[in-house]
Amino acid sequence: MALVDEARFKKLKISGSLPTPKGVALEVISLAQQDNVSNHDIARLISSDPALSVRVIKAANVLLGNTSRPIAGISDAVTVLGMRALRQLVLGIALMLDYRKGPCKQFDYGKFWVHSLLTGIAARHLAQRTRMVAPEEIFVVGLLSRIGRLAMATMHSDVYGAMTEQKLSLDGLCQAEMEQFGYQELELSEAILADMNFPKVFQMLVREYVHPDQANVIEGSRDWRLVYLLSVASLMAHVCLAEPQQRIKLVIRLRNQAARVAIEAADLIELGLACAQDWESWSSLLSMGQLQIPSFAELLKQADETEHDQTREIKAIGERSNYVSRVLVVDDDRAMLALLTAMLKSTGHTVYVARNGVEAMAQVEKHKPQLIITDWMMPEMDGLTLCRKLRERPEWRDIYMIVMTAQEDPDKLVEAFEAGADDYLVKPIIQKIFFSRLRAGLRVVKLQEELAADREQLLRLSTDLAEANEGLQLLALTDALTALPNRRAAMERLEQEWALTKRGNRNFSCMMVDVDFFKSINDKYGHPIGDLVLKKVASVLRQVARAQDMVCRYGGEEFVVICPDTDVVEGSLCAERLRQSVMACQVQSGVHNIKVTISIGLAERVAGMSSLEEVLSLSDQRLYMAKQTGRNKVVFK
Ligand code: GH3
Ligand code: MG
Ligand code: MG
Repeated sequence: MALVDEARFKKLKISGSLPTPKGVALEVISLAQQDNVSNHDIARLISSDPALSVRVIKAANVLLGNTSRPIAGISDAVTVLGMRALRQLVLGIALMLDYRKGPCKQFDYGKFWVHSLLTGIAARHLAQRTRMVAPEEIFVVGLLSRIGRLAMATMHSDVYGAMTEQKLSLDGLCQAEMEQFGYQELELSEAILADMNFPKVFQMLVREYVHPDQANVIEGSRDWRLVYLLSVASLMAHVCLAEPQQRIKLVIRLRNQAARVAIEAADLIELGLACAQDWESWSSLLSMGQLQIPSFAELLKQADETEHDQTREIKAIGERSNYVSRVLVVDDDRAMLALLTAMLKSTGHTVYVARNGVEAMAQVEKHKPQLIITDWMMPEMDGLTLCRKLRERPEWRDIYMIVMTAQEDPDKLVEAFEAGADDYLVKPIIQKIFFSRLRAGLRVVKLQEELAADREQLLRLSTDLAEANEGLQLLALTDALTALPNRRAAMERLEQEWALTKRGNRNFSCMMVDVDFFKSINDKYGHPIGDLVLKKVASVLRQVARAQDMVCRYGGEEFVVICPDTDVVEGSLCAERLRQSVMACQVQSGVHNIKVTISIGLAERVAGMSSLEEVLSLSDQRLYMAKQTGRNKVVFK
């Protein structure tokens, strides 16, 4: 009784205009509140009203369903249901019977009770599934969920009647009630339940269930689930009673709210069928008349086909993420998809959706998401198969995978991790936990991406370095002026040839080539022209030498030609060809035609030689001899 002040409430009560059960039912309520009351006392009191007791026994049988043997008498009902539940039941039924009609002409009492009864029936079925609360008790809470409205219509029949004619939304109505009376119907419901000694949690429920996403309860707590449970039950009743053209909008809202507490479309269809079945028993028991409960399968299918933006009504609490990512959400339940999409979009992420694993694979191919949140059980391809398939491809191995599951069964979780999941979420999705896990996942994604970028840069650097090294290596072994291998390269090659001919079954020759009177060319034409001449000689040697021969620049105007598998006789023929080719060519410089000759000393490895130096020195000696004996000649003996 937060806002309806107590004194005022007492006055209302004394005036006798608040809905209260009459006669025996009223006595039952007050008796049950006293200490030391036996089940027998209660049973005897109820039995004194035969009409009431028949209905209570029947109601108890319907409520308990097939779970126990049928209840035959009222004392059975007290024993099986317990005093508290029985008391609540008596209260609900008595109120319903006593307030079938009322003073407010514009208020449809019949429809009011049909809605309330349907809410009770649906709430009871939901409670049976979730086992969070006694189904018999939540049934009565559903029955009395809008008792404040009945009270309004009864107490302020004229003013309230006029108000209802304005066809206001519930929020609008509550506001008008506040303005008119200083309190509104939701508070009044709470106050009436408090007055009838209903447990605190039920009082809270009838105040909060209309706006579960704004309820003053901790997300994920039992109270939070109960608020949603009653809200879903009431929305089911709304759908059943709504005009056909209003239904789809209500079904979408119903489905979205159900998804918050992990009640999926399939569950709603089942629930609709159960309610339709129960309605038969209740309507005959309470003389409520006929009601056609619509097919929820059909309604949900129609809802699927509408263009209505499902995410609009979902309130998400996430803060904007400073790391925007591409997230793929996979679930066969549309409302679940809508919920997750709304939450992810509210924090700024780009969201893609898929209804099963096969669709998900196609989306991965197309959009390359960084993180995937997937349901476990899905048609076509389930979440675990999806995990496994993604882990098979190297380019998809880094995608962060979160699997959603209905229970936190350790064996199941191990199975998910083995399939390649990185994390899991338990349904119903608690937004706070969802966003925390999302942040943790994205942190990993971000680190991985940074690592990949570093790795790529490192790879690039090392390739650059390798290329640079290769260039340096080449530079170190190449002569800059002639582009021929230099003396170092020549020495390396000579060492190799020396090693190869060690066993004696191969041979090699080495020519020392020196340009004749080169100094005078420099003197006469200048150093740059001298360079040109050297380049020309180098190119002639390279062109005329055999492919297998290696022509190197050995020093200033000296060259060495290494001839593998060649003895001096064969080598001398090559040398002769080189000499003649150089002699035949000329370098043009202004008006001058510059011609040069070369001298060649040639030697091969012969038996008894102990080192490469001996071959080199022999060819040097022969070169010297060529110079001494007139130049422009080959000496090989
Ligand atoms: P010889 O017939 O006895 O070999 O006489 P030469 O003049 O060729 O021999 P010498 O050793 O007296 O002179 C070689 C000259 O080659 C000396 C040097 O200035 C010149 N020289 C060495 N390297 C280069 C070079 O890279 N470019 C130019 N233009 N001249 C060079
Ligand atoms: Mg599923
Ligand atoms: Mg010379």
